[in-house]
Amino acid sequence: MIMEASKDSYPKEFGAFLKAEHEIIYEILMLPGTVQGDHHTLFNLYHKGIDFSVVGSVHSHPSGVALPSDADVSMFSNTGPIHIIVASPYRISDFQAFNRKAEKIDLKVL
Ligand SMILES: [Zn+2]
Repeated sequence: MIMEASKDSYPKEFGAFLKAEHEIIYEILMLPGTVQGDHHTLFNLYHKGIDFSVVGSVHSHPSGVALPSDADVSMFSNTGPIHIIVASPYRISDFQAFNRKAEKIDLKVL
């Protein structure tokens, strides 16, 4: 799902929030007003509202490098404990997960 949306957005970035229950991410939440850029995906936090099932974010890096930029690091610290970056060409293994400090974490794909 995430990989498909990322491919559809290529060469633009794709971004969304992650929803989880019992430590399983079960839904990605596309926000109205999200701006997809060539290098940035800007989340319009006004639309997020208060939703405690939102655990983090996912966005794509068309550059193919699944490492957080400086802007990503500051966004991670504000938007929850789990963040995923998927990198072009968006195969199932082309992702890396990070915590809110932008440290790599293990995330299992079910
Ligand atoms: Zn990024």
